[in-house]
Amino acid sequence: MGLIRLLVFAALIYLIWRLAKRLLPARHGDARRPAEPDKATAQRMLKCQQCGVHVPEHEAFQHNGLSFCCQSHQRQYLEHHER
Ligand SMILES: [Zn+2]
Repeated sequence: MGLIRLLVFAALIYLIWRLAKRLLPARHGDARRPAEPDKATAQRMLKCQQCGVHVPEHEAFQHNGLSFCCQSHQRQYLEHHER
């Protein structure tokens, strides 16, 4: 009696597991993350006033409407152009 009850219980769990697996989106070992290359390339590039290198807007150092690739170039430029 106990064994039959156990088998029924196991069958139930199996059915529920199968149903859940079907309802849930299939999991892949390595989930492909939707990389966003469009966003990255569409980013505004700013030219360093000191060396001419183009840097993404979020990485650029900006000062009085001027942009620089790094803080030292900003300082160098200002030393030469501002008195
Ligand atoms: Zn620079």
